[in-house]
Amino acid sequence: MKKLYTSLMLLILLCTGHALRIQVQGESTRHNIPETKIGNVQYLAIKDLTPIFRCIQRQERSDQRLYLHLYGETFIFMEGTPYYSYKLDSFNMHHPLTRIGGDYYLPRVFLTEHLPMHFPQEQRYADSILRIQKPVDRSVQVIVLDPGHGGKDPGAVGRKLKAREKDINLAVALMLKPLLEKELGVRVLMTRSDDRFVSLGDRTKFANENKADLFVSIHTNASKSSSSRGTETYYLATAMTSDARAVEALENQVVELYEGGASARSKYDDLDFILSDLSQTEHLESSNELASSIQQNLIAGTKSYDRGVKQANFYVLRGAFMPSILIELGFISNPDEERLLANDEYQQRLARTIFEGIKRFKFRYDRIRNT
Ligand SMILES: [Zn+2]
Repeated sequence: MKKLYTSLMLLILLCTGHALRIQVQGESTRHNIPETKIGNVQYLAIKDLTPIFRCIQRQERSDQRLYLHLYGETFIFMEGTPYYSYKLDSFNMHHPLTRIGGDYYLPRVFLTEHLPMHFPQEQRYADSILRIQKPVDRSVQVIVLDPGHGGKDPGAVGRKLKAREKDINLAVALMLKPLLEKELGVRVLMTRSDDRFVSLGDRTKFANENKADLFVSIHTNASKSSSSRGTETYYLATAMTSDARAVEALENQVVELYEGGASARSKYDDLDFILSDLSQTEHLESSNELASSIQQNLIAGTKSYDRGVKQANFYVLRGAFMPSILIELGFISNPDEERLLANDEYQQRLARTIFEGIKRFKFRYDRIRNT
């Protein structure tokens, strides 16, 4: 009986009936977040905050850290300590992050004082009300698939079966599209859906105009040596190896061959370079992550030789205002790989493994950005 009484007292202590009032700008109803008293200090359960802030919490059980992704930023807390880190600085809430059962609790002061300090534009606490800006959804929703070459530009052509790169690129992209649409619910747009020529500049222009969140260009590789083999994924950068330079020259020659020769080339070189380089710098890390995720899945799923993730300066990636990558599925100049690349089942597997790579990237990217 005494035990029950103590439990009841504890329950009453926990539910003090206080609440933090939150007003989201543009919404008519006000949120009342219940407060919990722990050791005389007011706390709020993170699970009550996530639907309002659209924040995401991730636990690292190994070191008892809690990552909170909020307004595009990351806060790192440690269970049992009042300190947290934010943008490489350490802050003190004076009361520790606490866990009851499976739920984490933050001291009220984090919301009423710390958040308005970190986000002065978005958050203000006055008259006992926390007023916040509506969080923006920045998750991946539109993906542009870019099957390389097409029409008058066949891309690389195989030695044995005379398979054409443009057909393989298109076939894999057309298999990838429904996977992304059905399983991720995203909008997928193609720079071409049939055998037609599209200039390199028009490909990124298309992605920018449609406000794509990701740009994925699909190619097959070629080499003078018929023994060159394997799969590699690129993202845009200026620093690179000589091998990467060779692939870059191969993919960029479309400008010289089909887009009006040297004058067109200098147009690409001068016009957008500085600007596009800047536009991609912002997305370099994401592009690298997307490339790595796709490359890992491709290698695991096809057992192809792993040539790794590389940086190169492709025209088709320049000027894209979003994370952008270019996949070289394999070497059409290698008879064994040509046979695989032209095979319907193998193309399905390529599409499936690229899909898995994009899915894994999206899952992580959305968690960090969609806050
Ligand atoms: Zn190509």
